[in-house]
Amino acid sequence: MLIDNHGRNIDYIRLAVTDRCNLRCNYCMPASGIQFLKRNDLLTYEEMLRILTILSKNGVNKIRITGGEPFLRKDIMGFLKSLSDIETINKIAITTNGTLTRPYLSELIALGIRSFNLSIDSIDKTRFERITRRTCFDEVWACYEEMKEATLDLKVNAVVLKDQNIDDIIPMVALGETDNVSIRFIEEMPFNGDGNFYPKLEWNYEKIYHHIETHFGTIKKLPDPKGSTSLNYQVEGFKGTFGIIPAYTRSFCGSCNRIRLTPKGTIKTCLYDDGIFNIKDIMRAGATDIEILQAIKEAIGHRAIDGFEAEKNRSNRPTISESMASIGG
Ligand code: SAM
Ligand code: SF4
Repeated sequence: MLIDNHGRNIDYIRLAVTDRCNLRCNYCMPASGIQFLKRNDLLTYEEMLRILTILSKNGVNKIRITGGEPFLRKDIMGFLKSLSDIETINKIAITTNGTLTRPYLSELIALGIRSFNLSIDSIDKTRFERITRRTCFDEVWACYEEMKEATLDLKVNAVVLKDQNIDDIIPMVALGETDNVSIRFIEEMPFNGDGNFYPKLEWNYEKIYHHIETHFGTIKKLPDPKGSTSLNYQVEGFKGTFGIIPAYTRSFCGSCNRIRLTPKGTIKTCLYDDGIFNIKDIMRAGATDIEILQAIKEAIGHRAIDGFEAEKNRSNRPTISESMASIGG
């Protein structure tokens, strides 16, 4: 078991398999993109599988594959097949932008992968394409429809963006009237790749909730699953649910059960830290499995209590300027 210095059990890792992306969501990266990693700077699949095997023998049983866009990485299906063969991993989930995912869906389901977070920031084609800076709404919507038909564990992620997609909040909650899906509204975080920082967030959890409640009236609070970052709700009589993720106001840190591994092999024990150590470097220098586990335990044993402390402790990059694509979201 991996227990941090605040008594929290770490049983979940978020693995960003690439920092590359075919979209340019304006809250995630600049229009010109980011400086993408060179192939040799990326963890190889073999290295990832080695780390995940070590972690899974020590209590980590859930993995989320994210990026960048995971389906851009070559032979991602071969990697997912190997991952699904690790017996100690109970759950593999994927976060995707849905532009390239559909052709793989039946194969993913055959591997036992049924949990998807699909990012759709607007259900209005014009607004969607303005935010993502690419013309791909029809494909993403087709992906939503196909995932919905396949009765998967489907969550839609929408970052709430002032002056950009506020008009989508109500129609997106309304999808739950007929669709068995969880729509999650995420507070915008300053991981936009160009250091564009705001001292106060207008569309925070409270404002989003109030906006939804004012429209729909009675809303039921649902129990939040263990380690959940979203506060979950249901409109009376709806099939689906909705959630709000206070990612900027960070009120969920007390029960945080996760660590992150970035495409270049940095271990992060909090989204807001600037990286604890690089596991690729120690592996390529010849570390044994025991030494790798020891380094992970050391990082977990000195974990910030919450995202505010992690942000305050940043040293390599004192202000946040990373793109979420290079971290994994
Ligand atoms: N490309 C995939 C996608 O968009 O689903 C996976 C990677 S993306 C970085 C993972 C999640 O992070 C997405 O749901 C995205 O909306 C979210 N995200 C990216 N930048 C963000 C930001 N600045 N604030 C809040 N969420 C963000
Ligand atoms: Fe790409 Fe996802 Fe970032 Fe959008 S949010 S640019 S889809 S990595």
